[in-house]
Amino acid sequence: MCSSDLFVRRAARLRELAPGHELEAFLRMVAALVDAQQDALGGLPPGVLPGPAQLAKAKKAGRAPVDPAQWPRDPSWRAALARLLASVDEAALPEPARQARDALAKARSDDLEAIADRFLSGEILPAEAARSVFVAAALQVVWTRMAALIDKGDLLGDRPETGECPACGSPALAGLVSPGGTKFGHRHLHCSLCATSWRYVRSRCVHCGSTDKISYRQLAGTTFLRAECCEACHGYSKEFFLEAARPLEPLADDLASLGLDLLVGERSEEHTSELQPLAYL
Ligand code: FE
Ligand code: FE
Repeated sequence: MCSSDLFVRRAARLRELAPGHELEAFLRMVAALVDAQQDALGGLPPGVLPGPAQLAKAKKAGRAPVDPAQWPRDPSWRAALARLLASVDEAALPEPARQARDALAKARSDDLEAIADRFLSGEILPAEAARSVFVAAALQVVWTRMAALIDKGDLLGDRPETGECPACGSPALAGLVSPGGTKFGHRHLHCSLCATSWRYVRSRCVHCGSTDKISYRQLAGTTFLRAECCEACHGYSKEFFLEAARPLEPLADDLASLGLDLLVGERSEEHTSELQPLAYL
C-alpha cells in the first residue's frame, strides 16, 4: 500500500535524478508538479469511499473496489485540481503547461469532468494533452488517498493473471524487485493511478499474463533496470532492482529511464503511464 509521504519521496527522487540528466528540465517540471500534488493531498476535502454493500458487490463481480470506470468519483478531485493549479511552481513550467494551467483554472466543472473521463478511459484528445497532465495529477492525488483508506481485505486478492491494480484496476507503472524468496527475488508492481503496490509473479507479462516467450533487455552499463518483453502481445514493462544504495521510486525512475523505452521500441500502447501526456509539453 502507499504511504502518505509518496509524493514527497517522488519529488525528492526526481530532484536527485535531474542534475546533468538529458531530461533535466522535464524532470524538474515533474518534480514541481509532484510538490503541488503533495500540497493538494494535504488540503483535500473528505471524499466518498465505497461502503460495505458496494465493496461486496465489486468483489462478487471480480472488480477492483475503486475502479474509476465503475466507482463514481466525487467532486473532491476538482478541489485537488484547484489547489494543485494554484500552488504549482510557475517557474518550472514551460509555456504550453502554463497556458494549460490558466485554461483549467477558468474551465467549467463539466468541462473538467469531461477531460477526466477521457483521461481515465485512455481517450485523451491531442489538443487537451497538456491539460490532461494536471487533471491526471489531481486524479492521482484523490485515488492515492482512496486506495490508502481501503482495507486490504477488500482488494482483489487473487489476481495473478495480468498486472491490473487490485485496488483500482489501472495498469501498473513499473515493477520493483527486492531480494527474498528464491534467488530471483520478489516483484511488486506499482499502480499508475492510486500508487498501490502488490506482489506479482516474477516472470509474467503484466499486459496479457503470458509466461511464455518472455525475454529481457537492458541498457549497456545498467544493472538495476531491465525491460521484460513479451512476444505474445509485444508489450513490455520495466523492472527495477532494489539495492541498498539506491532509493528507487517507480514513477521517477520510469521517467528518468526513457532510454530503455527507446531501446525496446516506441512505447507500446500497453505500456501506459498516467503521466504519458507529459510528452506533449
Ligand atoms: Fe490502483
Ligand atoms: Fe504479453
